[in-house]
Amino acid sequence: MARKSLAGKLKLFLLITVAFLLIVYYIGLPMYARKMDASINRTTNSSSYQVSEAAQKLHDSLIVADLHADTLLWNRNFLEKNDYGLVDLPRMQKGNLSLQAFTIVSKAPKSLNIHKNTADTDQVTLLILAQHWPLKSLFSLKERALFQSHKLHKYADKSKGQFVIIKTKSDLDGFLTTRETGSKLTAGFLGIEGAHVLEGDIANVKAMYDAGFRMMAATHFFDNELGGSAHGINLGGLTDFGHQVFQDMQQRGMLIDIAHASPAMIDDILALTTTPIVSSHTGVRGTCDNQRNLSDDQLTGIALRVGLVGLGLWEVAVCDSSVEAIVTAIKYTVDLVGVDHVGLGSDYDGAIQPPFDASGMALITEELMKQGFSEQDIRKIMGGNTIRVLSQILPD
Ligand SMILES: [Zn+2]
Repeated sequence: MARKSLAGKLKLFLLITVAFLLIVYYIGLPMYARKMDASINRTTNSSSYQVSEAAQKLHDSLIVADLHADTLLWNRNFLEKNDYGLVDLPRMQKGNLSLQAFTIVSKAPKSLNIHKNTADTDQVTLLILAQHWPLKSLFSLKERALFQSHKLHKYADKSKGQFVIIKTKSDLDGFLTTRETGSKLTAGFLGIEGAHVLEGDIANVKAMYDAGFRMMAATHFFDNELGGSAHGINLGGLTDFGHQVFQDMQQRGMLIDIAHASPAMIDDILALTTTPIVSSHTGVRGTCDNQRNLSDDQLTGIALRVGLVGLGLWEVAVCDSSVEAIVTAIKYTVDLVGVDHVGLGSDYDGAIQPPFDASGMALITEELMKQGFSEQDIRKIMGGNTIRVLSQILPD
């Protein structure tokens, strides 16, 4: 009798434990992920982004391109208008954000900071568990990249022709030709934030290319097999493996991104490259002096290779959370290296709090007008330069 009641108690305990775990997995963890997304990816200003009639008219005639958004890290449905986060298709359409780089994050250390981080911890693993990504992406950085590429392809398929992914020069030409007819077709291309997704295997450059990726940054917040991060421990230069990776990327038609690289790594990449490179999301030390931002010499090095910097929209990039500060950084860079080397790199959905989301891009156009930029220069900064670099780099 006593044995039976003990068995009954054990059974009840097991049932309660399983029920508890199921509730945590199916309700608690997704709520945690959603709450995290909503709290770290938000604007500092929730107004409806009114601009002057002249600014709106010019803005509506532009191709607006942005070099960096971490949107795919989150389970938010890209095809629907969300009341949290910073990028989705309806908000891209509203803000005439015509071409967005979707850059995947695969690993992010705990207590992330711009000074010193190791690769020992990771916040993305819990996020993956909480968002019910495929089991194999829990254990592999490569799988995390492939799954995010798969997500964007699925969105494109389900967008009913409203959103396309650009992988070749002819994709880009087709997109631009369609836009010339007055269509509001919106496009994206895939990038990688930190080449640790290669898991140290050169063959994985091809795997990433085959999955549609056309831009890759060497490092993110920690040192990896390619070399030193600007926020890592060793601040090292490019390793032999890093050399191989970038040579392979150049041959395939993939854009090299120096964002988050250590100064030594940036010097090595500049010495190595024969094609235009970008810093997909950055500030400049001339207006905001910190370890995250590029020096005048680094900006000059990128410009000499006919490259491009995507100016960021967040506080560590521009030392303020105003549209004026963003355009002041743009103006500083244009004055230093010329208008052909400056674009946008919002870092939307990358745990930043900018003054506006994707629907408010016209605010930049208006502020560029206020700060005296010509229409021709505004066209280049808002997207023309990014289109030029992509058309030089992408495969046929
Ligand atoms: Zn970043």
